Amino acid sequence: MKVKILKKTKDRLEFEVKELTTALAGELRRIMISEIPTMAIEWVDFHKNDSVLWDEIIASRLGLIPLTFDPKFYNFKDDCKCSGKGCSHCQATLVLKKKGPCVVYSGDLKSSDKKVSPLYDNIPITELMEEQELEFEAIAQLGLGKGHAKWQGAVVGYEFSEKDDAYTFIVESVCGLSAEEIVLKSFDVLNEKLKDFTSDLGRLK
Ligand SMILES: [Zn+2]
Repeated sequence: MKVKILKKTKDRLEFEVKELTTALAGELRRIMISEIPTMAIEWVDFHKNDSVLWDEIIASRLGLIPLTFDPKFYNFKDDCKCSGKGCSHCQATLVLKKKGPCVVYSGDLKSSDKKVSPLYDNIPITELMEEQELEFEAIAQLGLGKGHAKWQGAVVGYEFSEKDDAYTFIVESVCGLSAEEIVLKSFDVLNEKLKDFTSDLGRLK
């Protein structure tokens, strides 16, 4: 398999892969979309919510805010040393306390880990009128796009060129990781899957 980078920015990566089968091209795309661990808000504990939006609606909006994080530091909750109880290696806390009149933005969230923060500060969450208050504590954790779309890592498309016998992939990150990090991780995941498959085959012999 030969990989050539064609264009690269932080959010977008265009690359060409030679000697790839159609099945593996499809699998690589699925991995980038749904099997790269990303960070998203999963639990919200509301202390006050006088806004016109219900708690559930605000919680679902919070879940969709892309968060930056250090992929080497965080574990999946179920695989963590704390056995899923929740610790600084598997979850981050984001708190918010605002009083109207104002628009509440993603940038108003204060994080327990400076590496975990909204990728964009200007995503509106809700609007508060005079004297209205919003106060909550949210927990962010790792997840996969195949579990819920809020953990989707990227938007990926590819096309095949018969002339060059190569697939050109276009990957746009929609999470806190760069497009390059997503692509590198997807090759790791694909390799792991192929290894598991080979060892399963070995056991069948
Ligand atoms: Zn933990």
